[in-house]
Amino acid sequence: MNSYTPQTQDIMFILEDVLHASQQISEMQVFKDVDSDLLNQVLEEASKFVKNQIAPLNQIGDEQGAQLKDGVVTMPPGFKVAYESFWQSGWASLSTAEQDGGQSLPVVLDSVLYEWLSAANHGWTMAPGLLHGAYECIKNYASQELKDIYLSKVGTGEWLATMCLTEPHAGSDLGLVSTRATPFLDSQYLIRGTKIFISGGEHDLTENIIHLVLARLPDAPPGPKGLSLFLVPKYYPDSTKSKVYCERIEEKMGIHASPTCVLRFDDAKGYLIGEEGRGLNAMFVMMNAARLHVALQGVGLLDASWQKANAYARERTQMRAPKLVGEKSASADLIIEHPAIKRKLDTQRAWIDGSRVLAYQTGLYLDIAKYHPNSARCEFAKVWCSLITPVLKATCTEQGFNGASECLQVFGGHGYIREWGIEQNVRDARIAMIYEGTNEIQAIDLLMRKVLGDRGLGLSTIIDELSLSLNNSIPNQQIVLSMFEKLQEISKAAIQVNELKGGAVTLSWISGDYLRLTAIAFLSWAWSRIEATTHLNTERWGGGAKALKAWVQPEFNMRYNIIKEQFEIL
Ligand SMILES: Cc1cc2nc3c(=O)[nH]c(=O)nc-3n(C[C@H](O)[C@H](O)[C@H](O)COP(=O)(O)OP(=O)(O)OC[C@H]3O[C@@H](n4cnc5c(N)ncnc54)[C@H](O)[C@@H]3O)c2cc1C
Repeated sequence: MNSYTPQTQDIMFILEDVLHASQQISEMQVFKDVDSDLLNQVLEEASKFVKNQIAPLNQIGDEQGAQLKDGVVTMPPGFKVAYESFWQSGWASLSTAEQDGGQSLPVVLDSVLYEWLSAANHGWTMAPGLLHGAYECIKNYASQELKDIYLSKVGTGEWLATMCLTEPHAGSDLGLVSTRATPFLDSQYLIRGTKIFISGGEHDLTENIIHLVLARLPDAPPGPKGLSLFLVPKYYPDSTKSKVYCERIEEKMGIHASPTCVLRFDDAKGYLIGEEGRGLNAMFVMMNAARLHVALQGVGLLDASWQKANAYARERTQMRAPKLVGEKSASADLIIEHPAIKRKLDTQRAWIDGSRVLAYQTGLYLDIAKYHPNSARCEFAKVWCSLITPVLKATCTEQGFNGASECLQVFGGHGYIREWGIEQNVRDARIAMIYEGTNEIQAIDLLMRKVLGDRGLGLSTIIDELSLSLNNSIPNQQIVLSMFEKLQEISKAAIQVNELKGGAVTLSWISGDYLRLTAIAFLSWAWSRIEATTHLNTERWGGGAKALKAWVQPEFNMRYNIIKEQFEIL
């Protein structure tokens, strides 16, 4: 039972029946050869790889963890072989451009793959987790000379990459970063400082590791505008080693297999990526894709937890379940037959399905924003990605953790002991609420930067388009439309509050409620789309619609009232 099996048919249902993914993809010339059969074929192969090669290493990764000795990090048994197989089979480069050694397939396939990998083995998946973002960053901002050396190595996954932002005194506030970059010869710089919490900062999975490091030039202004981005490889092309040292790996709650490193840059030679003082801009290229990946970690871990709990609930018998009139009860029933347990499982299933609709659509929009021939579609896609990504990051990771804990509950005391693997899921899932911008930062980003930033225009554009897709034949359309209306109303009120004295304090206070309100409205849209598409296998796909009435709408109203009350007090 301590395993994970990706369900290709469930994913194909969301992709094709609900989102018409291959139709959306076919509108882009770069993907002219991608059809539904190809999506299915790639996912079938991916599911075998994940199930057979990555999932079996989950427990040993947790138990043995990554080990540091004399500055060298050794990954848990089996990890290196699995990683070699991963990149050599082309899984690392699914959406990398063909000219950079990749397969030029749509990002949404990457999204599904990383959801599955995280579900199967979050610790292992941390290693390639930043590849796509690092590849995009180098491709968009590095000089041709750097691209010639590093682009295809990172794009294919032959070399892994890190993102070195955090310092002891600079976490959410990157403006406080103090690592120095001193100009050296030609286009080289000497990087000096200490970075903490660097995932995969040192390991033995690949021959080389490419660090992307935020640092400050001597004459740079304080704050975020003074930051530049540098590439520092572990090994230079002449095989000499850079002066980057792994001083410690952290003991932590979960993802034991992922080495979280303290890295000391001791005048390590590095190269500028992009323009001086525009390091954060280059980093933002990585941001939407990376945050979507983290959201999918939440979805994946929730699915893995659900699979375990669902299987257990169909084996374990305990007490008599209340039955419909006339039915006979056995001496003890399966715990799935206890309505309280069934409700828990159905609720988590609804979360997984609804989140997938929004996350995969975001994966599709990441490509549409780049490649769609119609500029209005590109613009819409950009607005969607910018607005929905923080919502997904925060909501899916929070549910990944809380939902995993609910699934643990299904096991009773057996969930709390190691044997069943569910307690590992709970521990592993917790970090996703913290890294890649904490969930509080996502809420601030959504409300203060995205919604107030354009006075609610982007949000209205999205709501208008989604409302058009709701018609009378769609169950629950009135509930969803009324949520959209209230979300618009509260957003307009937030714009006014922002202009009042003390408004920023109130807005920051309610930002988490606002994000949740937005998430519930969009998830409700997703569930109504699923329900309209199911030809109605309600037993499998009807959970969202049930949840909508049972607790989603009441929670929406509660959050709405909290925000309204705070606005009125002001
Ligand atoms: C396992 C792990 C892996 C990591 N991997 C990497 C990596 O690869 N690269 C890297 O650079 N970093 C990495 N990090 C660091 C991670 O991104 C930071 O921990 C995170 O950004 C938060 O920073 P902090 O820990 O300093 O917390 P702080 O920024 O000190 O925040 C503390 C609390 O205050 C809240 N807070 C801060 N500012 C605000 C605000 N304006 N409004 C509301 N609340 C606020 C936060 O949400 C949080 O709850 C990793 C961390 C861990 C634990």
